[in-house]
Amino acid sequence: PELWSSEFNDFINKCLTKDYEKRPTVSSLLQHDFIKQIEGKENVWLQMQDLLCFLSSKNCMSLFSRFERIHTKKGNYTKSLVSNQEEVDDLATLEVLDENTVTEQLQKGYAKDQIYTYVGDILIAVNPFRNVDIYSSQHSKLYIGAKRTANPPHIFAVADIGYQSMVTYNSDQCIVISGESGAGKTQSAHLLVQQLTVLGKANNRTLQEKILQVNNLVEAFGNAGTIINDNSSRFGKYLEMKFTCGGTVVGAQISEYLLEKSRVVHQAVGEKNFHIFYYIYAGLAEKKKLAHYKLPEYRPPRYLQNDHFRIVQDFMNNSFYKSQFELIEQCFKVIGFTLEELGSVYSVLAAILNVGNIEFSAVVSEHMIDKSNISNPVALENCASLLCIQADELQEALTSHCVVTRGETIIRPNTVEKATDVRDAMAKALYGRLFSWIVNRINTLLKPDKHLSGNDDGLNIGILDIFGFENFKKNSFEQLCINIANEQIQFYFNQHVFAWEQNEYLYEGVDARVIEYEDNRPLLDMFLQKPMGLLSLLDEESRFPQATDQTLVEKFEDNLKSKYFWRPKRVDLTFGIYHYAGKVLYNASGFLAKNRDTLPADIVLLLRSSENNLIRQLVTHPLTKTGIATVVVFLSSFSSLDADHCWYSLMDLLSKMVVGQPHFVRCIKPNNDRQANKFDKEKVLVQLRYTGILETARIRRQGYSHRILFANFIKRYYLICYKTNDDPPVSPETCAAILEKAHLDNWVLGKTKVFLKYYHVEQLNLMRKET
Ligand code: ATP
Ligand code: MG
Repeated sequence: PELWSSEFNDFINKCLTKDYEKRPTVSSLLQHDFIKQIEGKENVWLQMQDLLCFLSSKNCMSLFSRFERIHTKKGNYTKSLVSNQEEVDDLATLEVLDENTVTEQLQKGYAKDQIYTYVGDILIAVNPFRNVDIYSSQHSKLYIGAKRTANPPHIFAVADIGYQSMVTYNSDQCIVISGESGAGKTQSAHLLVQQLTVLGKANNRTLQEKILQVNNLVEAFGNAGTIINDNSSRFGKYLEMKFTCGGTVVGAQISEYLLEKSRVVHQAVGEKNFHIFYYIYAGLAEKKKLAHYKLPEYRPPRYLQNDHFRIVQDFMNNSFYKSQFELIEQCFKVIGFTLEELGSVYSVLAAILNVGNIEFSAVVSEHMIDKSNISNPVALENCASLLCIQADELQEALTSHCVVTRGETIIRPNTVEKATDVRDAMAKALYGRLFSWIVNRINTLLKPDKHLSGNDDGLNIGILDIFGFENFKKNSFEQLCINIANEQIQFYFNQHVFAWEQNEYLYEGVDARVIEYEDNRPLLDMFLQKPMGLLSLLDEESRFPQATDQTLVEKFEDNLKSKYFWRPKRVDLTFGIYHYAGKVLYNASGFLAKNRDTLPADIVLLLRSSENNLIRQLVTHPLTKTGIATVVVFLSSFSSLDADHCWYSLMDLLSKMVVGQPHFVRCIKPNNDRQANKFDKEKVLVQLRYTGILETARIRRQGYSHRILFANFIKRYYLICYKTNDDPPVSPETCAAILEKAHLDNWVLGKTKVFLKYYHVEQLNLMRKET
């Protein structure tokens, strides 16, 4: 209070001058009488210094408004400056950056439906678990080309920054969404696509509509209800929106990877099969077409029998499923699938459900070899008819297999157990291939038309939405795959936010404080290294016919000399991994079979003889996968990769993903009960900790998130300081002149690049527009 004085008033008035030209520089502010007054008072002085940097950079609206509030509430300013009581839009501007303050900030925002917060240029999204009225077309308009500080933080702002950067720098962009299961990644991806289609002003409405349908369609096939999330993504998705260099949206391409196919044949307690099965059941029942697709009307097919559905009426009469069926059928049509293709898709889905109903019984033969027989020929007939193949050939392919020894082909019978495995493998393969076929077909239908996109190759913005980190009571092979994928995303995030940043400082001779962060590379090495990484060991063991899941776990234990791996009991199939997001106990039961994921040659040959065009396509061409798909798909095609390739292909792909600039959206789940208005502080804190958000905030405040080559910088911003016809030399001096003219502080010049804080760029762009 004793500092309140006319000097202070004058000082604030100077700081808050709205006119750029009259705005004082930091050095002149430091000469102000008020500063001289507080010089001896170290605590206040420190705070003031920090504040000055922000004020003179003319952004950080939150600080401005705080300062204004302090100004009117005389007397309390020292206290509020120190204690961070007000909310901020950007955590990187907080003076106190401890766990409690950050969590409190998020909680306060959450209580007011402000679910988004920035940490520098990273967006944090806290799942509201209810509809919040912030996505209307008015909101959408508000964020188009707007200054970041003009509106509250929003996912639309991320779309806008991505889009503007793409157009301005003529470079591809990539938005990486991460967070645990149910945190809101898929929802965020939808909102990004929605806003990007608005920004991309598609010339024809049809294209815009088509792009908006893509997510709905692939999610009907790739999402399912789990105990954590009713609409959980069971595959990874990388959606690229294609634009012309001028920024008009012209198409889209989607890559999928690691679909959890095992869900088709088995679901854990409390979980469901992929949405589409329930949709078609309800939809086809409504259309009185169940009989046409040979779907049983009384007992649910085995693959759909779980604790949710004991009788078929449970999902046949479900009005939500019926409306979803209509919606999906509409999506197919809008995107451009033909009615014939649609019919074939339903046939394959119905065939899968019928395959699952085939049952086997043991036959004791004279030669004492266990044989199996199909005990319900109706299911067999149904399935064969839907797949347009011969029933007797299908029976043979399920109940026997060919072995070639010494050039001779011998037919051996399958035991009941083996026949059951072949049946399930066939169902999984059909579903996985159908899914890839749909994705490929979408890509063909949404491929940019050369006529529309012009001669240039165009630009794109990719949106990565993968399944979130999982830790259940029982974790199997699928959870391991999902968690390794998340581990890779976290590594990529660290690389971008921490490691690359530091390397660049070193290279450019820029003095920046070293930031400590939790590096998960040693753990990734444990998984991916060759020949002794966990995945190599798994692959090696999968090649031994005599190997069992027990020998596999023992192999892990003998070879993985890592502090990240442990076996709680030495006798069973359990092993544990310390992931970046916490420790997870896995049960190796079924690991080998799932990793082998083989479809017997007999089945492939049989399906190739189908009279249905689509079914033949499913088994004829190896469906090409693109983009990141090849990264994490290493699990199924691991053996075909040569030594060392795996690790590097990952690095390669991740860096390909970000030829331009990556943008990060970090989704946070505020509670485990999917409840609105419930903010479990401890739960949030754990997520903040393991995702490194606090360190991110620190580095965003201290670091320089934008590094622009001198030549590019000058080309872009010279008008701030020079005349249109001037041709200033490419030199650090020219850059400095521009920056000084813009009244910016805290920038640094390296050997080849200008180092800017994230808020500088916005300021420069604004001034450039004004000139
Ligand atoms: P998974 O890893 O299991 O796929 P996810 O992170 O993709 O999970 P979502 O499916 O996007 O999670 O979100 C789970 C649920 O949370 C949604 O079905 C929706 O009900 C709710 N939700 C998420 N984000 C929002 C939002 N911005 N507004 C309203 N509800 C939301
Ligand atoms: Mg999802």
